[in-house]
Amino acid sequence: MHIPLSAPDLNDTDKNAVLEVLNSRTLSIGPKTLEFEKAAAEIAGTKHGIAVNSGTSGLHLCVRAAGIREGDEVITSPFSFVASANCILFERATPVFVDIDPITGSITPEAIEAAITPRTKALLPVHIFGRPCAIAPIMEIARKRGLPVIEDSCEAIGATYFGKRVGSFGQSGVFAFYPNKQVTTGEGGVIVTNDDDVARQCRSMRNQGRAASNWLEHDLIGYNYRLSDVNCALGLNQLKRVDEIVAARSRVVHMYDQALRHISEVIPPPPDEPNCEISWFVYVVRLQDEFTGADRDHVLLELQRQGVECRNYFPPIHLQAVYRRLFGYKDGAFPVTERVAARTIALPFFNRLSAEQIEYVAAALEKAIATLKPKRYVEAGIPAARSVL
Ligand SMILES: *Cc1c(COP(=O)(O)O)cnc(C)c1O
Repeated sequence: MHIPLSAPDLNDTDKNAVLEVLNSRTLSIGPKTLEFEKAAAEIAGTKHGIAVNSGTSGLHLCVRAAGIREGDEVITSPFSFVASANCILFERATPVFVDIDPITGSITPEAIEAAITPRTKALLPVHIFGRPCAIAPIMEIARKRGLPVIEDSCEAIGATYFGKRVGSFGQSGVFAFYPNKQVTTGEGGVIVTNDDDVARQCRSMRNQGRAASNWLEHDLIGYNYRLSDVNCALGLNQLKRVDEIVAARSRVVHMYDQALRHISEVIPPPPDEPNCEISWFVYVVRLQDEFTGADRDHVLLELQRQGVECRNYFPPIHLQAVYRRLFGYKDGAFPVTERVAARTIALPFFNRLSAEQIEYVAAALEKAIATLKPKRYVEAGIPAARSVL
């Protein structure tokens, strides 16, 4: 059996929606973009939606619209996809990392508050793996300090925090639509905001800094971050089923939790906290602390050998070669992030993952773990379990 890590869920109406645009001959800056933006804003519960060609582009424009410049500091998470911090570097500002909570994987309000300096100009929390971070207390800190918040909601479309959709709390939020996300446009993203001025700036900057009124008048430095109508038509159709998609993924999580329950070496992802609803992006388990990063890497290889695609989501951003080089980060800088990141295993996860596939993954994981030698066994002189492969 071969089980992919992720798979887009494309149906016939998705394909027809794309064909319709191809037949219309308006492939970009057409009606589908506006409809897609409206649908995304409706889901987030915001006034504006601005379609862009990736989540990363969206984050970049939000950073610019927040007025972030060279020398400014923006507080963010080291346990995320690299784009969460790169979008700050694009403006020659400094990402200031703070450590995460070991259970939720999110940066904590306490750690954020402790990291604020006179140079802090924004907060960029991440709803990692689709789990809402402590966004209300973070907003309270931001309000007290007068700081804008940019929510990296790229993995969290549809997630709610006390009944309110993530992405709608801060000055701006971004959803991403690469094919491994809950909803896909092939490539793409959308900025959501209630701030008229942020919306106007982002709209202009994604389209070469054009003034709204005149095609050849450029009043800002802009980019070509536009998303084509082909992508938007696909996204619009997918957004119509977002609740269905979120529910389907929750069911897969439930099946996984059951299937892995008896594997004591594995910590399943924690369930939703009260009053929060996760929009599951990935299913990431962790090995118990008694295992090492090398053990985890070994399990990844053993799973792959059995046809189970898996990934080490996410290696800490501060330990990526480019961040070590630019900022001199060393191992141990953010111990909780490093301890968690060394032990994570993202298992295959998509809407249509079957019970049979989940059973296969569970059995493969059990076999892979049986080949390990936990530290406590080594210390007690007990030999490793023999490989059952
Ligand atoms: C996917 C993702 C992004 C950016 O998405 P792209 O569309 O690939 O540019 C940003 N942040 C996080 C946390 C993501 O998972």
